[in-house]
Amino acid sequence: TSFDGMGIKDDLLRGIYQYGFEKPSAIQQRAVMPIIKGRDVIAQAQSGTGKTSMIALTVCQMVDTSTREVQALILSPTRELASQTEKVILAIGDFINIQSHACVGGKSVGEDIRKLENGVHVVSGTPGRVCDMIKRRTLRTRAIKLLVLDESDEMLSRGFKDQIYDVYRYLPPDLQVVLISATLPHEILEMTTKFMTDPVKILV
Ligand code: AMP
Repeated sequence: TSFDGMGIKDDLLRGIYQYGFEKPSAIQQRAVMPIIKGRDVIAQAQSGTGKTSMIALTVCQMVDTSTREVQALILSPTRELASQTEKVILAIGDFINIQSHACVGGKSVGEDIRKLENGVHVVSGTPGRVCDMIKRRTLRTRAIKLLVLDESDEMLSRGFKDQIYDVYRYLPPDLQVVLISATLPHEILEMTTKFMTDPVKILV
């Protein structure tokens, strides 16, 4: 299998090949097409499997860059992971002019406000800061179509459960949700029941 024939737009394919990828990893082979088709997906996967690139690829595919509104929101447990995901989005999305912002704790709130008010397509952040920006109405949620919860078990063990539920309450009802987690304890399954509709389950 290859990235061709997955329904990926041409300018994004160019970005993927330029980034140095030749063929999809196992998780990419199994998760990309269901996500592109709009399905909710639960992927049980560790880091190092190509999950970050899978998120970057699907986010770049679904964003409409002709309108400058936030359409995809990615939540990660750490600043480092949120920033890394944003970097891969910018690299793979080199030819589609994607605008994104890493919305993480410990960085200047003023910079968040400036970037978000200027208009971005994608926000990759940590739950606390994202929640804060939504409540300030700086991060507008009305055009968000896709929510990605990365390393969900890790987000819960870092105490972000309430903030994730808080963020979810502000998102539109017809939301697509992709949840990635190394383990699927009871609290994660509860989230999948609350947030997701007929999800595809993938174990890599
Ligand atoms: P990730 O889990 O997305 O952080 O990926 C782990 C490592 O594998 C990173 O160095 C990626 O650049 C690399 N990688 C991810 N997907 C692919 C692919 N399809 N082909 C080659 N390398 C990949």
